[in-house]
Amino acid sequence: MSKSIAIQAIRGAHKIVARAEKELAQALKDKGAGIKVEFPDTAYYLPVSYGMLGMKIETLGGLKELLEEAKSLLPPVPDENINLPYLGHTLDAGMSALFADEIIEVIKYTQHPLPYLPEPDPKNGHLWLGAANDVILRERGIEFVDGTAPGFAACVGACPTNEIAVKIARELQEKNLYVFLAAGTDGKSMARQLYEEGIELGWTTRLVPFGDDVTACIHALGFATKAALSFGGAKPGDYKKILEYNKERIFAFILAFGHVDDEKFAQAAGAINFGFPTIADTDIGRILPTGICTYEHVVSPVEHKNIVSRSIEVRGLKISVSEVPVPVPYGPAFQGERVRKEDMYVEMAGQASPGFEFLTSKGLDEVEDGKIEIFGPEIDDIQEGTQLPLAIWAEVAGRNMQPDFEPILERQFHDFINAAHGLFHVGQRDINWLRISKEAKNAGFKFKHLGVILHAALHNEYGKIFDKIQIRIYTNEKDVLNLIEKARKTYRERDARLADMTDESVDTFYSCALCQSFAPNHICIITPERSGLCGAYNWLDGKAAYEMNAAGPNQPVKKGTEIDIVKGQWQNVNEFVYHNSHKTLEVFNAYSIIEYPMTSCGCFECISCVLPSTNGIMTVYREYNGMTPVGMKFSTLAGTVGGGLQTPGFIGHSKHYIGSRKFVSAEGGAKRIVWMNRNLKEEIREILEKVGKQEGIESFFDMIADESVATTEEEVLDYISKINHPAISMPPLF
Ligand code: SF4
Repeated sequence: MSKSIAIQAIRGAHKIVARAEKELAQALKDKGAGIKVEFPDTAYYLPVSYGMLGMKIETLGGLKELLEEAKSLLPPVPDENINLPYLGHTLDAGMSALFADEIIEVIKYTQHPLPYLPEPDPKNGHLWLGAANDVILRERGIEFVDGTAPGFAACVGACPTNEIAVKIARELQEKNLYVFLAAGTDGKSMARQLYEEGIELGWTTRLVPFGDDVTACIHALGFATKAALSFGGAKPGDYKKILEYNKERIFAFILAFGHVDDEKFAQAAGAINFGFPTIADTDIGRILPTGICTYEHVVSPVEHKNIVSRSIEVRGLKISVSEVPVPVPYGPAFQGERVRKEDMYVEMAGQASPGFEFLTSKGLDEVEDGKIEIFGPEIDDIQEGTQLPLAIWAEVAGRNMQPDFEPILERQFHDFINAAHGLFHVGQRDINWLRISKEAKNAGFKFKHLGVILHAALHNEYGKIFDKIQIRIYTNEKDVLNLIEKARKTYRERDARLADMTDESVDTFYSCALCQSFAPNHICIITPERSGLCGAYNWLDGKAAYEMNAAGPNQPVKKGTEIDIVKGQWQNVNEFVYHNSHKTLEVFNAYSIIEYPMTSCGCFECISCVLPSTNGIMTVYREYNGMTPVGMKFSTLAGTVGGGLQTPGFIGHSKHYIGSRKFVSAEGGAKRIVWMNRNLKEEIREILEKVGKQEGIESFFDMIADESVATTEEEVLDYISKINHPAISMPPLF
């Protein structure tokens, strides 16, 4: 707790209470105790004293009791030389100042002419609106309840220039926040600065000029109190519930611009009672977390360019973007849509060009929320039919963000991008593939909108987890190739986290239904030893995703009674798969390629299938373009196996699964592999050599045929027969 802040806030409260006492005495003298006092058209009396104390003040005389309450809360101004715990006193001083504010402000309503325009918006040069009536409360307050408006920024003072005032106001509006404007600095106020720049003010535009007096700050807290009484179920006098409601539900904060005098410090102290922190552009000291506000209580000095994002972070405000602002229709209905070659304007990544998608976390001060950068050509710079590389690199920051959540957020790119009409996205990690239709291009869709989609959709779905996201989109090959290895290193580290876990060591697996937008009956069962077939989700990711969103696509599946431990079949898993495959699959074996294997969606990294005459299986990676020994290229195979089908003899799976103890273990495991495309084989050389060592097979790696020695089943059989591949002497597959 900063001693200087406490001293100034308490001193300020004394000054405001003294002013209230003086003005009340004058009003009583001039008008008499019986004269009616009220804010316009409200059933909430003077809302702060009604809410906090249950007082129903209706006359000037009634204000005397409130004044006494304000005085009784006033702590002594601390001695400069004595150190005490100040927070309690500062909070009392703040509340005392708010009561005094209310007295001063309501007396204004007995004056002629009325200094305020009791309407929703300024008119005919009347700028100041004063207290909100109950019609405004009902219309606007509901937005705080349904999340349309997450909260408000109460701006006090004036910015150094009108330009800065406009920029900050616009930034706050973009975050859907209400901007409450009160008090000035040296005769200038932010409201007037906006007015001078021709900005439309009022409740309609969410830029609400309450008044130029420091006591007009009370109208922001009065509104907050009325919201708690009206929408939060708080009863008058139940100050605890009102303050808690505001702390938990109304994401508000004070922005102090310019010199902060004692009276403004007192307002800040009053706001802290509500859980509303103060962020200032000048150096007014700091109050770090102490339990009243969610995080820090006073933060300063903060540069104007950072003040909105810093305030959002300090208040713990979760941004949601009500609509995804892209020039094409957007919604889940478009997720299953495909873009055919003849309708396509541009194709990115996939088999033709390199690409990847990556999300990582950074420090809060390293991420600028909503920043989207393009490196390489934009869609307008290219011809129809162009094939381009594509890397999407997202950086998120948030106090609740954990590295375990990174792959889960990253895997959402697929669904979120697909929800845009005219976009067709497949894959993840370094096997992403995107098509953008001519129709989307003609509607004005740009590559930067990929970032816009991710910013909005991730905030909306996962805003509780992170606070800020910035996105870089690379469409030039040099950058994509430079960065892809960094991403791959992280993919490998993510995969390695599960190294020591086994399927036997857990009683719960996790499901994944993310790909049901394309393959409605597909369901992945993710076990410690079998990752999701896209390779992007392992068991830990499924667990973390469930913790993040208990109603989401990743659900815990208790194994239940064991039916066949060799094939990997459990009663509860069967039941879960049955219900979640829309009753199309009754039996599911986790470790078999022949009998009731897992369904395949379309996102698999690899396909393995039986080559009957060899008594073995072949495995092909999705980036291999050539013919395979089963007589189909990867694309044809994918069409045969994918779409949520259970196809005996064929499975889609991740690369990582090949190194698992449970890889087709019902049929003898990885030593059944008789053919693999060369690149994949080289990439997982270590894994294959390890399999050979574990099985006591010398040179197992070399025993696996690839396209350099065999492209037909006969050639594979010929090759493995000569070198006595272990598959030849294994029990028959059928
Ligand atoms: S392939 Fe499986 S694990 Fe991966 S996103 Fe699709 S359903 Fe989830």
